Amino acid sequence: MEQVLPSRILQTAVEQLSLLPGVGRKTALRYALNLLRSDEEQVQGFTESISALKRDLKFCSMCHNISDTDMCPICSDQRRDRSTICVVSDIQDVMALENTQQYKGLYHVLGGVISPLDGVGPADLEIDSLVERVAAGGISEVILAISPTMEGDTTCFYIYRKLAPYDVKVTLLARGVAVGEDLEYTDEVTLGRSLLNRTPFDDK
Ligand code: ZN
Repeated sequence: MEQVLPSRILQTAVEQLSLLPGVGRKTALRYALNLLRSDEEQVQGFTESISALKRDLKFCSMCHNISDTDMCPICSDQRRDRSTICVVSDIQDVMALENTQQYKGLYHVLGGVISPLDGVGPADLEIDSLVERVAAGGISEVILAISPTMEGDTTCFYIYRKLAPYDVKVTLLARGVAVGEDLEYTDEVTLGRSLLNRTPFDDK
């Protein structure tokens, strides 16, 4: 049975907090009461950081990773290998690959995978901008680091065909990543190894 709270303000805070994934009403109430007990400054820091997420966070104009500036720190880093682009579906995948410390090239975040059932087509993803980056020249290898699900494979094949007219090597992560497993949940050692043992894309 739903607990009736003695305050409308508290009720609203609990409702908002329980919108977060994995947060039920009980946990939301615990969070809200904890915030209530915190000092004013702490609560302000908390709410300000959340407001800033939507207000100030940008997406890198080159790789579409999250960034505080027009170009993200990875794309601006001149020590990185600018001839290699690693294509991932989501921002979390960039973080997972960076954690392996095995990759020194650049990234390209698609913003999802092609999934007709969910109404996601190639035009909804950052695929054209990837092709533009390759067409601009100076790229020798594109690594497709996309989870090997059916949608992921469709996306890889689509990108492979789009890149076929260009003189660029297209490779895949070695299949140390289990089928259907999200890249972000793969352990760093396995992910690092599948990055080092990547294989040329084979469309047969
Ligand atoms: Zn970037």
